[in-house]
Amino acid sequence: MSNEVRVRFAPSPTGVLHIGGVRTALYNYLFAKKHGGKFILRIEDTDQSRFVEGAEKYIKDSLAWCGIEIDEGTDQGGDYAPYKQSERKNLYAKYAQQMIDEGTAYYAFDTAEELDEMRETLKAAKANSLNYNSITRNTMKNSLTLPAEEVQKRLDSGEPYVIRIKVPAKEDIRLNDMIRGWVNVHTSTMDDKVLMKSDGMPTYHLANVVDDYLMKITHVIRGEEWLPSAPLHVLLYRYLGWGKDMPKFAHLPLLLKPDGNGKLSKRDAAKNGFPIFPMEWKVTEEDASLKGFKEEGYLSQAFVNFLALLGWNPGTENEIFSLNELVEAFTIERISKAGAKFDIDKAIWFNQQYIRKMQPSDLATLLSNQTKAASISCDDSKALAIAELLQERIDFIPDLLSKGQYFFSAPTEYVDKVIRKKWKGEAKAVFSTFVGKIAHQKLKAEDFQTTLEQSAAENDTKVGMVMQILRVAITGEAGGPDLMKIMEVLGTNEVTDRIKKATNAFDQATNNE
Ligand code: GLU
Repeated sequence: MSNEVRVRFAPSPTGVLHIGGVRTALYNYLFAKKHGGKFILRIEDTDQSRFVEGAEKYIKDSLAWCGIEIDEGTDQGGDYAPYKQSERKNLYAKYAQQMIDEGTAYYAFDTAEELDEMRETLKAAKANSLNYNSITRNTMKNSLTLPAEEVQKRLDSGEPYVIRIKVPAKEDIRLNDMIRGWVNVHTSTMDDKVLMKSDGMPTYHLANVVDDYLMKITHVIRGEEWLPSAPLHVLLYRYLGWGKDMPKFAHLPLLLKPDGNGKLSKRDAAKNGFPIFPMEWKVTEEDASLKGFKEEGYLSQAFVNFLALLGWNPGTENEIFSLNELVEAFTIERISKAGAKFDIDKAIWFNQQYIRKMQPSDLATLLSNQTKAASISCDDSKALAIAELLQERIDFIPDLLSKGQYFFSAPTEYVDKVIRKKWKGEAKAVFSTFVGKIAHQKLKAEDFQTTLEQSAAENDTKVGMVMQILRVAITGEAGGPDLMKIMEVLGTNEVTDRIKKATNAFDQATNNE
């Protein structure tokens, strides 16, 4: 085997790709790039009954959004094509046959009823295992118990059958996981898993191992939920004579609920209103409300950075890493064994950090997209000015429009508390002087400031006394970015209109006409 690192992300297109799946893809990608290797996308679609239309595209779109580039895959091609298991269907049978011939697998003819019956009997006998295994297989209808001629007759007659692996009765299967260290599993706890189904399709186990071998995969990095299957895979490598080419395994820690109690689920996301999917998924009715990080206004770089640190740490205080920096810093040794708690506040924090790091002009482009979509007119220079003013104040991209509402339309509601406290005679007088002075001029923020100072002085008061109520008049809100700059963006005509409108509204609210 060459020394090139080759890893694969091998999702099944059975529905929406959970954030844990994206993390698996990301860690595979980081590991491959760190070692100058290849990242392969293999679509594992042998279970036709669970196939969901649109899922494969969703997987690819999600990876693309994250900036995870695929070296070999269904769209990219590669030396080991095809990369979709349903297109490799004809390839697996011969390995199952090889195992049959060598006595490490066998035909089983049991019907669904017979299998149920076996489980019932075992249950009644309070047996530890309810499975088809090295003990129960001796009581069932398979090529180990039936005479050879009868097996042949059944095969020739087209009777449905499956092929099962013959797990040795008493043995320790050992594997050295890169994250967990040595894992020992006694074969008495393993069952004779089906390798080929009665529809002629391989099961996940056979197809996965055969493909990892044929595609020269060097490291299998996948979720902890696959750890129980790993000993079976080790056995398959051995039975197929590929033991010395077996990839190294790394089973990633689970993603946990925010309180750390149990696996993060769709229900947690729905209950807490946070996204756990990279992008929106609207394929089935039931999933209609599943939110995506993308649509919720997360930047993909922030999402990727957040995800990378869910289960891995760089060993330094630094938390902000671009994708390239993650590639540099990533090591499997720093992946933790313990589950990683999902913390949406941390995701929001990352998003804030990335928004702050953006070029204001890029943020302005995103704002322009939003205004266009909402049919709001906003020229480029206005978008840039707003982006600069809100950059430090927003958590998400859509906040540009929602928090910057007052840049596009005069407020219709005002913060009541401020009006009651601050709408005094002198404020009204300052408003009126100010409006008189600014009329029909093109003013900069500094000019608004000086004019306001003059207007306050002429009415024997200080700017500080009227600043907040003026903000409420212009924006409807009690706080926000530099008011002078807001007025510069709005222009004197709009500012004048808003002050006049607010004066009336404040008078009415306080009956102070
Ligand atoms: N097809 C499996 C999945 O859906 C792949 C598991 C593995 O990486 O071996 O996650």
